[in-house]
Amino acid sequence: MKGLKSNTLADAFSWFCNQIASKYDSHEARSVAGIVFEHCFQVTSLQLITQKDQRLTESDIVALYKIIKTLLRDVPVQHITGKGHFRYLTLDVNESVLIPRPETEELVQWILDDSKALPVKNNKLKIWDIGTGSGVIALSLARELPSSEVWASDISADALDVAKKNAATNLCQVTFIHHNVLMDEVPATDFDVLVSNPPYIRESEKALMKNNVLNYEPNLALFVPDHDHLLFYRAIGLIAGKALKPGGKLYVEINEALGSETIELFLSLGFKNVEIRKDIFGKDRFAKAWEFQPQ
Ligand code: GLN
Repeated sequence: MKGLKSNTLADAFSWFCNQIASKYDSHEARSVAGIVFEHCFQVTSLQLITQKDQRLTESDIVALYKIIKTLLRDVPVQHITGKGHFRYLTLDVNESVLIPRPETEELVQWILDDSKALPVKNNKLKIWDIGTGSGVIALSLARELPSSEVWASDISADALDVAKKNAATNLCQVTFIHHNVLMDEVPATDFDVLVSNPPYIRESEKALMKNNVLNYEPNLALFVPDHDHLLFYRAIGLIAGKALKPGGKLYVEINEALGSETIELFLSLGFKNVEIRKDIFGKDRFAKAWEFQPQ
């Protein structure tokens, strides 16, 4: 195989990284290669060092070569392995759902931190994750707040199938419902927490996005029209007004460019308080709204 010095794990790993260098910078390439080697050969990043001289077979190299070709077509590595990782969970992912993003883990952390501040007797939270996709938010909250009652909805039946399977494999108890947030009535009330990572990328921002997202992740979960880019936040805010119990809170992931607009929107809908938080990359990424008072 061109460029491959020998069949050892170490040489195969550097060869793999070099082969995908046109699509990934060196840090990303190592992380993608790490995911592939763990998936194909069950070797951890530590074993890549301690067992660096272990030899792969010819058919292992052929399998790696096929994966390289797939990656060069912009297929996300998570679609090759079929797995995504989020907090303590390993989840199935496919083209019907977004691949979990590290930022969204912080949204879950915000809810967990707030819940720890509550008196224990109030700690049995009723939570609804709107637009659950693969289920990452709902399943994490069900796992990490085991006394909570968690609901999760999505407009996509295919996404719900993925989320239900993920709940089963991760032994998480979640009530799933098929629900269109733009049209359907609230399915239940008295929630302590509503949480959502709705579509928020404006169509005009498509030009800035990579092909692996554009071509392989569901447009339905990502994009909003430029002329009405907060439509999901308006719908979710109105639903929150009906579905939250007094004292309940709404948490959302947001477009980094739309923090102030999101604050204005939630205030105009009737929330008395809105707080914006930055993600690990220093970008306005989350909003919390609470104390809803009907206008
Ligand atoms: N953060 C995601 C991305 O940049 C978008 C998630 C969303 O639209 N809710 O691809």
